[in-house]
Amino acid sequence: MPLQKRRIVIIGAGIFGTAMAYHMASPQTNIVLIESGSAPACGVTGRAFGWINTVHGRPGSESHALWQKAVRDYPALIQDLPEIRSFSRGGSLLWHASTQETEHLLTTRRDAGETVELVDRAAISRLEPHLRHIPETAVFSADDIAIDPIRLATTLLSTARRRGATVRFDETVSSIETANGHVTGVQTSTGLIETDCVVLAAGRGTDVLAKQLGIDLGMILSPALLLRYACQQPFIRHILDGPRVEVRQSLDNTVFIAESWHADMEEPPSLIGARFLSVLVDEFDIPSPLSLIRAEIGHRPTFHDNLPRIGFVPEVEGLYLATGHPGLILAPYLARLATRDILHGDMPDVPNVTTNNDPLPHKI
Ligand SMILES: Cc1cc2nc3c(=O)[nH]c(=O)nc-3n(C[C@H](O)[C@H](O)[C@H](O)COP(=O)(O)OP(=O)(O)OC[C@H]3O[C@@H](n4cnc5c(N)ncnc54)[C@H](O)[C@@H]3O)c2cc1C
Repeated sequence: MPLQKRRIVIIGAGIFGTAMAYHMASPQTNIVLIESGSAPACGVTGRAFGWINTVHGRPGSESHALWQKAVRDYPALIQDLPEIRSFSRGGSLLWHASTQETEHLLTTRRDAGETVELVDRAAISRLEPHLRHIPETAVFSADDIAIDPIRLATTLLSTARRRGATVRFDETVSSIETANGHVTGVQTSTGLIETDCVVLAAGRGTDVLAKQLGIDLGMILSPALLLRYACQQPFIRHILDGPRVEVRQSLDNTVFIAESWHADMEEPPSLIGARFLSVLVDEFDIPSPLSLIRAEIGHRPTFHDNLPRIGFVPEVEGLYLATGHPGLILAPYLARLATRDILHGDMPDVPNVTTNNDPLPHKI
């Protein structure tokens, strides 16, 4: 039977699972997405900052080249789903403690083929009139996008549903069933679903389910903190990344800060949230009171080579991996390639999938 007619089960409604469902769903496919939470993006996707950029990559590396392709693919997604505009904004301003470091950043990004410009104090204060301590210079990236991760995942999934995908919330996959090295189904909290193709897009749960099959993906969970503040009025227009804070404000005026976090930090997330409230008050003329809504830790699914894991797993026929970091940036692009791979056997132009069981690169 052609794979298009067969049932394909996707596990997880984070950014990877919803992007896979979005690209794969059609009248010709039979897609069933299983999510243990009661809504999309209840894993780390719902705790992401939402910055579509390449600035945090290392130019020249394989991962950076992949980020660039994924970022350049975003306009096509927005063209297909124009409602994304209603929860995204354009442009970022980034600066370091010294002008020299900021200029170095500009050179690095230009050398990497990106469209960035150096802006001076006058331009920065025009771009961000509420910023109090204006740096001498900043790197402005007009093409960067700030996106609401929860609304993005929700939009992708509702479009997939309209195209025929079945979505089952509040149902947990307890195991992936196999026979003779092939996938045969998934066991969930409500019973067995038979299938010979499973897309494992369960974020940190991907590692758990793979380990049950004896597969060590080498996933490293990297925690980070997302702080959310309520505000009545707008005062930040772009993504701002300075020495003291990485911050953005969404169109509903919620303020988001992304901050590093590790388990042996003594300060609990809520206190860090309170501390950053003072940083915001010091950095901006804020037109109305700010209050902390939530301080949440999310565990980013990373791998030692900074590459995502997308492709058929060598050890089990019919098992497809779709996870990694930075998922907001990568997932829509990679899911498009993965759909071609799964449905049509096209060899997508993405990095190899390796597991610790199979240390040799395995081209999908
Ligand atoms: C503070 C912070 C800031 C970030 N900022 C950015 C950013 O600006 N840009 C960017 O690109 N990335 C960012 N990230 C990273 C990004 O959030 C992740 O790379 C991405 O969300 C991973 O998506 P995922 O779909 O693999 O995982 P998840 O979002 O965790 O999705 C997995 C889903 O699977 C479900 N699930 C798990 N196990 C099972 C099971 N057994 N049965 C059924 N369902 C299951 C979970 O409930 C979950 O909904 C940030 C992360 C953090 C924490």
